[in-house]
Amino acid sequence: MPKRKADSEVTANATARGNTNENDAQGTSRPSPPQCHTLLEDEITRCGQLATEGHPKPERCKEHHTQYRTLYKKYKDASKVVDEVKGGAELPTRGEIGRYTDRHAVLEKVSWVCDYLEAIRVEKAGREIHSKRFFLEGECR
Ligand SMILES: [Zn+2]
Repeated sequence: MPKRKADSEVTANATARGNTNENDAQGTSRPSPPQCHTLLEDEITRCGQLATEGHPKPERCKEHHTQYRTLYKKYKDASKVVDEVKGGAELPTRGEIGRYTDRHAVLEKVSWVCDYLEAIRVEKAGREIHSKRFFLEGECR
């Protein structure tokens, strides 16, 4: 059974958008100073500061470069925890869990698993924020 979409829906969404991608058409030899690539916390507005930090070419203002590095380190650390757990298989197996009789040991594992989950969460959130705010045009994928 072939399904058809209502064409009226499509045309209703077609708003009149002028093709104005030529804002920067003039001035071929204008060496525009690099602007910070970071998006502000609304994830839409681009930072208005000049880019002075970053290698090989400046990509961020001082403030955002610091944020960038802090966040990077944070999720890299979290990533390390996640990898260690994956590699070392420190998560208890079902069999091991079945043998737990000591409440204290159970609680210890529970808290440890929470740490693990938190590390995954931090890594994931960090990566998302990182790519959204510090890499325009999603170039880090
Ligand atoms: Zn900035």
